[in-house]
Amino acid sequence: MKVRFGEIPEEGLRYEINDESWFPDRELHRTGPVQSVIVLKRNGVDRVLLSGEIQTIITFDCDRCTESFSMELDNSFELDLEYVPGNVPESGEHECSPSEMDVMYLKEPAIDIFEILIQQVFLMIFEKHLCSESCKGLCLKCGINLNLESCDCKKELKSSPFSILKKNRK
Ligand SMILES: [Zn+2]
Ligand SMILES: [Zn+2]
Repeated sequence: MKVRFGEIPEEGLRYEINDESWFPDRELHRTGPVQSVIVLKRNGVDRVLLSGEIQTIITFDCDRCTESFSMELDNSFELDLEYVPGNVPESGEHECSPSEMDVMYLKEPAIDIFEILIQQVFLMIFEKHLCSESCKGLCLKCGINLNLESCDCKKELKSSPFSILKKNRK
């Protein structure tokens, strides 16, 4: 779904997107409908301000405890889209400099809405594969889920850090 800069009228454009075909279902396990809104406003000849919203529910396996959990996404974002004819500055470099995070350079004066939605979804879930910030994860030794149960492995390690070394040497 492409929108050319020239198609955007003075008063801007608003899309309510019910089409779910853009969603990266292969990479992300979605357990709810996805709804998104995109608003485009001209900002001079070569620039467009894009603001949007994405709502859906995604299920993950926690990186620490491996339990699956659902996360509701309800995020909004803003991008400053700039058409740069000729040599386009590296768009992929955004992540490295947070100050430029909301600037995106385009090779042509057209906006690929679905591509932007996909990028934004991945930005929203980045580093969020934890069921909770305080997830205790699995015990490295016995493998139990420390959120649900507790074990004595850690205590053992603490009380006699050398006992294990000795054991291994035998
Ligand atoms: Zn967890
Ligand atoms: Zn343990």
